[in-house]
Amino acid sequence: MSQAACPSEISDIVRQVIAELRAAAPASVNGLPPLAPIAGPVAPESFVGRHGIFDSVDEAVRAAEEAFLRLERLGMEGRRKAIAHIRRISIEDAVELGTMEFNETKIGRLAHKIEKLKILGERAPGVEFMRSEVFSGDHGLAVIEYAPFGVIGAITPVTHSLPTITGNAVSMIASGNSVVVNPHPSGKLVAAEGVRRFNQAIHREIGIDNLISLIAEPTLDTAAALFKHRGVKLICVTGGPAVARAAMESSKRAIVAGPGNPPVVVDETADLDRAARSIIAGAAYDNNLLCIAEKQVFVVESVFEKMMEAMGRAGAARLNAQQVDALTSKAIVWTGEGHHRHQVACKDFIGQDAAILARAAGTGVRDDVELLFGETSVDNPFVPVEQMMPFVPFVRCRDADEAIQRAHQSEHGFRHTAIIHSHDVRNMTKMGRLLDTTLFVKNGPSTAGLGLGGEGYISFSIATPTGEGVTTPLTFTRQRRCTLVDDLRILGSPQ
Ligand code: NAD
Repeated sequence: MSQAACPSEISDIVRQVIAELRAAAPASVNGLPPLAPIAGPVAPESFVGRHGIFDSVDEAVRAAEEAFLRLERLGMEGRRKAIAHIRRISIEDAVELGTMEFNETKIGRLAHKIEKLKILGERAPGVEFMRSEVFSGDHGLAVIEYAPFGVIGAITPVTHSLPTITGNAVSMIASGNSVVVNPHPSGKLVAAEGVRRFNQAIHREIGIDNLISLIAEPTLDTAAALFKHRGVKLICVTGGPAVARAAMESSKRAIVAGPGNPPVVVDETADLDRAARSIIAGAAYDNNLLCIAEKQVFVVESVFEKMMEAMGRAGAARLNAQQVDALTSKAIVWTGEGHHRHQVACKDFIGQDAAILARAAGTGVRDDVELLFGETSVDNPFVPVEQMMPFVPFVRCRDADEAIQRAHQSEHGFRHTAIIHSHDVRNMTKMGRLLDTTLFVKNGPSTAGLGLGGEGYISFSIATPTGEGVTTPLTFTRQRRCTLVDDLRILGSPQ
């Protein structure tokens, strides 16, 4: 009579079956050497075939852990191949995925949703940013290498749901990590579809699934579980004040790409037409959803009216005082209780077209108008609130000093982004020093700060309070040093 197997026997049998399946696995995947068996206990279930989509945080982290270990064995070439698929899909499927993101989130502009995917696919920093350092001296050699952390927990915003995941995935995988994403609930479907496509293609070529894992039904609880999970070695959050605060309070090392409220100063030495074109290009992009986008403008009195005329010439539509008041009363609302009571942008207007805002202001504009603007006092809530909609308040200031001071106050010490239009080096320097921002753009649109029409590279995770700046693969690494004493150096050493 046969006896029922006890639990330890069952796990022995499962291990044996998995070992046999591994032994019977194909000798290579697309010419790559077969994977050696994973050392230590083998998880009885396999996550291969899930293509990164998970309901449970624990499963997502375990699947990403396994993917990380497998990636380690494929070296830099494996990382390069995985990233090439993420880039290719972001570019080739940009219209389809961008349209999906636009339809799901219902914010921003379709053309820019598509363009953001293409730009991130083409230009997100990849393996070319990886390097190592060598110190060679009388006592031998020290090599410093930039090693992966392992599984990274990422929180992404609704403003660029899939583009943020694309950029994060390229940079995190370039440095050898895997990632579990808790996307914004309002952009979860396009996030899941992008992640599924990335993983499927990567798995097909290099045999690794779930390098990018994603929580399909994200909530604040799943975000908290991801922050706390023992398998998550590093956190990277991209979002507003609440998530930035939560990450800063977490016990894990966090890279925090927090909120901004970028001010612009225009002084009497500025090229006003160029300033106007720049402000429209930056502030109207994706209906002002970018964290770096121009949010309020401080203009010195002597050129204030000329600057307003330049804005009109460049294609923006001016609201009068009554229209500004009508828009303000609808687009900015109160939230919170007691000490926490403050004003925020009304969800109904975030990322909407200028024509919709104009209607709320009691007027109409042509459909091709991308940006509304109007004179306000410094006390108008559009000045301190990160509006994320295509209306920009213009505040008249006595001189450049007052403009810089007011710009500083309106930025709230986020130290995110600031812009100046000026040819006075002292004003530029004064503003740069006082605001102390991560990005400081002179005489161009805010987007130039991310290498779009300016120099430098792009990422949609700009780490502000934690100081890493525009993130690259090296942001997601830990330094390891290997020292060889008294040997290897080919130059003569003291005897
Ligand atoms: P949001 O703060 O509402 O949400 C961002 C993410 O954080 C979402 O996934 C959300 O679900 C999550 N979240 C919110 N509160 C949380 C909490 N307490 N614990 C854990 N997770 C939490 O922001 P949004 O509307 O999606 O995006 C716009 C904001 O993000 C703006 O403030 C913008 O400046 C900022 N942003 C910053 C960067 C940057 O690189 N610094 C880039 C893009 C957006």
